Amino acid sequence: MAERRHASDRESARRPHLGRRRRADGAEQGCVDAPIAGTQDEERGAAILREHQRLHDLSHFDADRSRGLRCGPGRVGELPDLDLEPALPQALLHLQRCWMQRHSFKVLPAVPLLEVDSVTKRFGGIVALDDVSFDVEAGEIVGLIGPNGAGKTTAFNVITRLYTPDAGHVRFDGKDLLATRPSGVIRRGIARTFQNVELFRGLTVLENVQVGAHARTGDHTVDDALFYVGIGSLRHFQVDGLPFGTQKRVELARALASSPRLMLLDEPAGGLNHEEVQDLAGLLRRLRGDFDLTLLLVEHHMGLVMSVAERVHVLDFGRKIAEGTPAEVQANPAVIEAYLGTAA
Ligand code: ATP
Repeated sequence: MAERRHASDRESARRPHLGRRRRADGAEQGCVDAPIAGTQDEERGAAILREHQRLHDLSHFDADRSRGLRCGPGRVGELPDLDLEPALPQALLHLQRCWMQRHSFKVLPAVPLLEVDSVTKRFGGIVALDDVSFDVEAGEIVGLIGPNGAGKTTAFNVITRLYTPDAGHVRFDGKDLLATRPSGVIRRGIARTFQNVELFRGLTVLENVQVGAHARTGDHTVDDALFYVGIGSLRHFQVDGLPFGTQKRVELARALASSPRLMLLDEPAGGLNHEEVQDLAGLLRRLRGDFDLTLLLVEHHMGLVMSVAERVHVLDFGRKIAEGTPAEVQANPAVIEAYLGTAA
């Protein structure tokens, strides 16, 4: 018995203690480093330590997208839901703060995965983007729409660093993207497809998709990408002779093979028939979950945008004119006027 008490004393000396201190107002308050007295408090202390361990384990988590917050070295942290009695969370918060300080954690507000902030892009006298701001949260499917010449593709070209804006900022995962070279964008986890399909002519389907995997190695293999988009059996075909819809799938597989975090899709429904558009809608929804993706979609096919996007940003003549859920933007008079030339 005496042995056991000594052993537990040694254990207690090593562990952070959490007991209860009676406040001036008589209420009990959890406090770190107060002695644990009695079995109940020992149990509470053990619960704290389990939670401490859980917080430590959480440090290896990334992209907890259900909460929009992430835990990881130097990243956003949060106190997980607690299954403990009400007096303890305050002490746990203190414990978490100490732990995060010790491990150089910073508690920051959650940031969108992509932020386009007051971006202007001019081509001579044409202002393709005029002080445009929008964001995309991790895990979202977001639509970027607008009539012809609104600036949508220019926005994609700015995000992927093909164009340098005249003013404004673009941040990815909270960090400046404009400081990244165009060739580095894909390594940061941003992949794209093009309005007019940009494949390597003369190469096979497999070789085209391997280019994506070569650009960035991640969780997903070339085979994953090929089979996921349904072109595994075409791997040895040259891309040149394939139908346009199949070439679009090759582009999508190439983008997937780079294991991106954010995928920019420029008019993926262009040239597809009604049935293919419906298949595409299902594919995009599954992609988000199966590949842990965030999608930004430029599209003229309103049926597709309205069925898959959770939020929509609307551009017109280089300016952002609306933002909201698909239902909100569809009912927005400025959007109706931009598309139909007349207010509702
Ligand atoms: P669409 O739906 O027709 O593809 P969009 O919304 O993608 O149009 P952008 O292609 O971004 O529009 O073009 C926006 C404006 O910028 C247009 O007036 C276009 O002519 C102009 N523009 C885009 N790229 C260039 C360029 N490289 N040089 C000159 N003007 C350009």
